[in-house]
Amino acid sequence: MPLYGAIEAGGTKFLCAVGSGPHALSAEARIPTTTPSETLGRCIEFFRAQAPIAALGVGSFGPLELRRGASNYGHITATPKAGWSHTDIVGPLRAALGVPVAFDTDVNAAVLGEARWGAARQLETAVYITIGTGIGGGALLGGELAHGLVHPEMGHLLLPREPDDLEFAGVCPFHGGRCWEGLASGPAIERRVGQRAETLPAGHPAWDLEARYIASGLTSLVLILSPERVILGGGVMQPALFPPVRQYLSRSLAGYVQADALLHGMNDYVVPPGLGAQAGIVGALALAERAAR
Ligand SMILES: [Zn+2]
Repeated sequence: MPLYGAIEAGGTKFLCAVGSGPHALSAEARIPTTTPSETLGRCIEFFRAQAPIAALGVGSFGPLELRRGASNYGHITATPKAGWSHTDIVGPLRAALGVPVAFDTDVNAAVLGEARWGAARQLETAVYITIGTGIGGGALLGGELAHGLVHPEMGHLLLPREPDDLEFAGVCPFHGGRCWEGLASGPAIERRVGQRAETLPAGHPAWDLEARYIASGLTSLVLILSPERVILGGGVMQPALFPPVRQYLSRSLAGYVQADALLHGMNDYVVPPGLGAQAGIVGALALAERAAR
């Protein structure tokens, strides 16, 4: 079996791996995100020390330039991450390693990995949403990852306010309390209740509000993209949140969309990642596999 390389490029660490599938990762490295040249240099050193790879996949924090014809294709564009704006990611990796390099958002990589080996196997249209420090979404539509003008930015969907949450200012630097990330990311929960989401006890009213906002964003995504399954990951998505999210989603769709999955199969429709915390790195491996074809 051919070996592929994978990089999950995050704001705090770059995770590198070599393998042929989720159960066959032969080597992994965690490289702290420092300067671009140091971080990419250490990634290149890692891959040079491994057996030859057929292709490399990179799932990255964004925003990214993904249009093939653009002069800055393969770059991170204007990011709030200090020192990383307008960084060429694909160029140095391809030059140093001499293999095809596939490049996409971390969340598009995750939905592809879930479709290849995880909770969306056999499906051609699925959505992956991560709810943590921010909110982001990736979409596989008819077997292709969604790109366009740039790439989807689902975390910044504008949402109606819940009636018991009218005073909250929100945390999105661009939209305050008007968008999904501003209202329902981990930092939004923390700002609202003065306590980190991870330490909030089950049964705290903040979880019910959180479930309503998650379901509110999902309602729009279900109506616009018609995904066959919705995968929810990220640090905020604890198991106890799934049942109320499914209930509120059913309630807001109100039986309008005539699909068995929505009317009778909600437990299998809104699900955690089948690849767990490995969705990102394994998704990057799936990107590499596609690039090698
Ligand atoms: Zn926003």
